Amino acid sequence: MGSTTTHVGLARLRRDLVIVRRSDQAEIHDPLTLRTLTFDDMQMDVLSLFDGEHTPESIAEEVFGDATQIDAVCRLIDRVHELGLLESARLDRRALASAQARALREPARGLRDQRVAATVRWAAREIPLYEERIGALAGEVHGVADLVKLPVTTKQDVRDHFPARLIARGASLNELLERREVGMVTSSGSTGGRLEFLYYDGDPAPPALYLRHPAMRAAGEVQQIKIANFTTPICSGAVCHRASPLAQRMFDRGRQVSISSSERIMQLRRSELDLILDELTTFKPDVLFADPVYAVALVRALQREGLAIPQVKAVFTSYDFLTTIHAAVLRESFGLPVYQMYGASEINDNAAFTCDHGRFHVLDERSVFEFLRAGRPVRPGEVGAITVTLVSRPYSRFVRYQVGDLARPIEDCGCAFDDLQAFELEGRMQEVLFTTRGEPVTTRGVDRLFEGLRWIDFYQLVQRDRSRFELLAVRRDGVDGSEDERTLRERVRETMGKDAELEIVYVRELPVNPSLKYPPTVNKTTSTWQP
Ligand SMILES: [Zn+2]
Repeated sequence: MGSTTTHVGLARLRRDLVIVRRSDQAEIHDPLTLRTLTFDDMQMDVLSLFDGEHTPESIAEEVFGDATQIDAVCRLIDRVHELGLLESARLDRRALASAQARALREPARGLRDQRVAATVRWAAREIPLYEERIGALAGEVHGVADLVKLPVTTKQDVRDHFPARLIARGASLNELLERREVGMVTSSGSTGGRLEFLYYDGDPAPPALYLRHPAMRAAGEVQQIKIANFTTPICSGAVCHRASPLAQRMFDRGRQVSISSSERIMQLRRSELDLILDELTTFKPDVLFADPVYAVALVRALQREGLAIPQVKAVFTSYDFLTTIHAAVLRESFGLPVYQMYGASEINDNAAFTCDHGRFHVLDERSVFEFLRAGRPVRPGEVGAITVTLVSRPYSRFVRYQVGDLARPIEDCGCAFDDLQAFELEGRMQEVLFTTRGEPVTTRGVDRLFEGLRWIDFYQLVQRDRSRFELLAVRRDGVDGSEDERTLRERVRETMGKDAELEIVYVRELPVNPSLKYPPTVNKTTSTWQP
């Protein structure tokens, strides 16, 4: 307590802070660092008396009716001091930002370590496959850094061992399904065949995302936000996008719906378009949650027909890589910032979301991420395979599951979510291309070649062999593309190699893969990314 009483005496919050009280919690916005910090009601009652006039004793007396509760007051003074929120802080913007990052990160890191250690012990005890593979090693795992002692779980493991050896002892899949405690998901099978796993529908507690994300806050009260999902017309467990009455496509207690879609989204027929519009008008979503390719195709179809873009309060993309071209189209047509979610059906959907800086942050109530190359965690800024440990589910959890995506971990994003792990998404492992000299270039690396170019709406860059590249592209209406085409050719030579040959083929729609997706990069050579 020593430090507290010396630097505080009479604590006073900085006058430039913006305090917003809500029904469930309070937020302090720091205009210097642009961070939003959250506090519960009781903490806020205490903080509101940090006015330079109340002593810790008098605050304890006033809030708790008991001057001996002074410890609780002092702990909070320490916390806001660490966060640089007291007038005595007198830090410059940069020092303040790093002090806040540290104060946010360290406790969250400790909590992550505890969750990981507990999950590994639980899995080694309850899940037959992990009992065999982890066994006594569980005792050596005290945190995220120790996970490297354990084997990874592959998609093939899931195909081989679900459900028999990947469900907790004493739980029966059939009973869980009958009681509707879980559903089944089938992943779309873009990598080596279908994959089945458990799905938990409707979380009792809203994840941090709903409480903290600026776009979700803008969309309305947490419990009432309505989300329209717009993606491939494929059924996946609880989420079904096939033709059936709208009411049957609702889930999450009626707060979400799957909007009708099309198997040829780039050639959307007028009747399909009318149905989609009709459903959006009926449901009136606050949030559009869409596959970016499908959302852009919808926007272009509406514009061709001279119809207005439906109004929503927030736009999130998911399911597929968001290209720089699609981010710009969606931002301009909806007049909103575009955020992304990252997830996969077998890791129970949304595991991470993007902040204002465009980086992903991991929802740590559910998942802990590692980024691996050759079995070891990569350094910040390097590309590694996303490896997920699920830390919260009752009947099944993965320990070190490799989703098949690549990302670069980020040490410090400098945003409001610095307590959460951060990364930049690089794309799918199997969609990595190679320069003519054999260096890997991820989907994100390829997508950078299209920055600022505006002559096409959709593209797919196919690598045929070491030096032959084919760009399939759907032209944008009314844009002369000769300049952009030249720029792209130059950039391809710079990045992929001087001897790289680029053929550009204009098409009316891109070829669709079996899961009805349109990956921006396709590798048809024998080179593959070695994880
Ligand atoms: Zn961030």
